[in-house]
Amino acid sequence: MVDRRSFLKIASGMAATVLPSTSPAVTQSCQGARVVIVGAGVAGVRAAVRLKQSAPKIDIALIDPIGYGKASPLAKINSIVMMDSPVSLSITGIKVVSQHVIEVDPVNKRVLLQNGGEIYADLLVLAPGVEFKHDDRTSHPLNESVQRRQLEAMHDGDNVIVTIPKAPYQYPQGPYITVSRIADYLHASKPASKVIVFDHNSGSSIAELYRRQWSRKVATARIEHVEVEAGYIAAADYQTGVIDTADGRIRGGVIALMDEQRAAVVAREAGLSLQGDWCHVKQRTLESLHYADVYVLGDANDAAQWDKTAFTAVQQADAFVRAITASPH
Ligand SMILES: Cc1cc2nc3c(=O)[nH]c(=O)nc-3n(C[C@H](O)[C@H](O)[C@H](O)COP(=O)(O)OP(=O)(O)OC[C@H]3O[C@@H](n4cnc5c(N)ncnc54)[C@H](O)[C@@H]3O)c2cc1C
Repeated sequence: MVDRRSFLKIASGMAATVLPSTSPAVTQSCQGARVVIVGAGVAGVRAAVRLKQSAPKIDIALIDPIGYGKASPLAKINSIVMMDSPVSLSITGIKVVSQHVIEVDPVNKRVLLQNGGEIYADLLVLAPGVEFKHDDRTSHPLNESVQRRQLEAMHDGDNVIVTIPKAPYQYPQGPYITVSRIADYLHASKPASKVIVFDHNSGSSIAELYRRQWSRKVATARIEHVEVEAGYIAAADYQTGVIDTADGRIRGGVIALMDEQRAAVVAREAGLSLQGDWCHVKQRTLESLHYADVYVLGDANDAAQWDKTAFTAVQQADAFVRAITASPH
């Protein structure tokens, strides 16, 4: 087994070079060609299933610490994604490896697992989704059940404070849907309270759409939507709900702060984003711009920056399968 230090050296020390892609040849000629997919979220599962359907002889390993369809909060979305598929993972022959990938070597197509194991591939797919950029205590404003309990416990007259990060981030309309839902709740149950939204997307079309909708409803009249610049929120105390802003201190009975996002660490540290936030890919095939036969699917890439949704993840997985199973010219 390769030790972690030399593995890292191999992965990070290589200059990012674009080698000619061998993908269609890999998947067509090698009966036992091995495809390793990191991340069993929406894109990873879809890609695994569609690839197995298109090329049954390919050996596919799908790696994710949560396994598939277990504790994932996205299991529901995933089952929707899978609904048009007559197969389930257990009978497809796709190997599901319940492990965390700690390093990826995009040159040698090798992944290192948390348990010390390593897996080699002919073709590597990364679909690890996103992570919060600065503060992993921030919640996704769509975390409905937690929020509901907090809102119920809140004193009538206290305010709810929501922050929306600078895009791109997962599911762009999500925070606005949440704000609408909170306003409906306040209207019905806490009439003396309001929801204050600090939105870091000045002039965004989604914000504009929701502002128009909010202005037409009685319930949403209690939304105070404030466009702010980066750095407006200086600090937040999650225990007391006290937030330091550029305009002074403010306190929320419930605070739902959402941090900026970026591609999950496993993809960035593999050199697929060249120290940026998102992995660079070719728009049509989703192959990395920096490493041949390495693909990045879903939220982690920069192909659909403003539309990081399950729908797009599915589209990208299908485009990837088409690209690598197409006949070489
Ligand atoms: C609460 C919530 C609600 C949403 N609602 C909607 C909606 O209604 N409609 C919609 O279109 N979109 C919605 N989205 C967005 C949608 O879920 C994402 O756009 C979509 O899941 C992206 O798919 P993905 O495969 O890129 O990443 P994900 O589905 O996030 O999957 C990434 C997977 O990679 C795994 N992983 C990460 N790092 C590693 C590692 N080192 N080793 C192994 N595995 C790893 C993770 O465990 C995870 O399972 C929602 C998102 C959230 C958070």
